[in-house]
Amino acid sequence: MRMIDKHRFLLIAMLAAGIVTLACTAEVGPPAKVIVVGIDAVDIEVMKHLLDDGSLPNFSRLMSQGATGRLETFMPLTKSPILWTSIATSKMPNEHGIGGFVKSEDGGKMVPYTGNTRRVKAIWDILGEEGMKVAVVGWMVTWPAEEVNGYLVSDYIQYETEKGIKLDQQTYPEDLFEEIDSLRLTQKDVSDEDIADLFPVDRTAGDFGIASWHKDYVKMIYATDETFRRVAHHLNDKGVDFLAVYFNGIDSMCHGFWDFRTKQKHPLHSVIDNYYIWMDGVLGEFMDLVDDRTLLVVCSDHGFHGPRRTEDGSLYLGVYMHGQYGIVGLMGKGVRKGSSIIDAEILDVTPTILYALGIPVGRDMRGRVLTDGFEPEYLKSHTVSFIPTYETGDRVAGEPMESPVDDKIKEKLRAVGYIQ
Ligand SMILES: [Zn+2]
Repeated sequence: MRMIDKHRFLLIAMLAAGIVTLACTAEVGPPAKVIVVGIDAVDIEVMKHLLDDGSLPNFSRLMSQGATGRLETFMPLTKSPILWTSIATSKMPNEHGIGGFVKSEDGGKMVPYTGNTRRVKAIWDILGEEGMKVAVVGWMVTWPAEEVNGYLVSDYIQYETEKGIKLDQQTYPEDLFEEIDSLRLTQKDVSDEDIADLFPVDRTAGDFGIASWHKDYVKMIYATDETFRRVAHHLNDKGVDFLAVYFNGIDSMCHGFWDFRTKQKHPLHSVIDNYYIWMDGVLGEFMDLVDDRTLLVVCSDHGFHGPRRTEDGSLYLGVYMHGQYGIVGLMGKGVRKGSSIIDAEILDVTPTILYALGIPVGRDMRGRVLTDGFEPEYLKSHTVSFIPTYETGDRVAGEPMESPVDDKIKEKLRAVGYIQ
């Protein structure tokens, strides 16, 4: 090849590469990847003062760079396992079969609801069948880990079994457990130093009725969320097309410390705020994974209202402390920056993800696509398509399965006030 031809060849090659790059950035196709960050009980009213004073830069960024709105939960207020299953299926509780935290059997024995009692497909089942590689981390009611096209790390990895007792099916595939075991934290792995920003207790703590269980409670909450955060990034690094991760901490912090929030001089006055600030940083790490091929979905299952009183003045606790509105946020490919999403409900999350990916919505799903959140151009070139159903009838729901960590689960539910 003569020198001049060589240069011309190079130029043509570079142009061709340039054209390819241009075509990619201008491409209007669906995102190649979706990241779902589920955060229990996030409430815009609770975090408003933190947004106003700049303490939540990533939630603020989600609002300016993405599309956000309130996400209405089921009324009357109900329990989180029911809600997170409806978020992941777009089905009503009587359809998906998850009835709460625990199922009371005859004779009063409480067994936690388990994933095998779910009668319908979750978004990760549907996307897996579409050929997408999925990773699901910590989502409520996912033990025993079901077979997926990718990885599933069940919510039970947060519980430690007694010495010598092995809990099976904590992950899919089973041998994924060995791989992520070193990333797991339990309460006793968390030092005072680790939670110094979350729980600033000083020498006078005793005067305020702060008990050692308060600190242990924060350590337990932090251990779980930090475990799920680490595992989610680990699985993301393996290369997946769909990542869904769940964080419970804000809900547990609100249940445990809401009373102190109203006492300006109490040392625990700002522990809920502190946790919001920590979660904002976690959210930011997932936002940083969003490129021009990715859609990020942030959602909560309900808001937080604090204790309510009956007419005779007695307190309603548990789910009655939840608020009617959580939040929803979209960011990334196809999303209309800075827009508001109106009238969103928890059932809308799954149809919206399917739509964004160019995959048909099941006509038997109970939610709708949150079109408010997308660019007009994107909506024009992407119409919502439907199929009658994704249910093939081969998913046989079983009874709740007992496990060696059931007592640990019930202990935690009692601490948060969800069961007696
Ligand atoms: Zn919840």
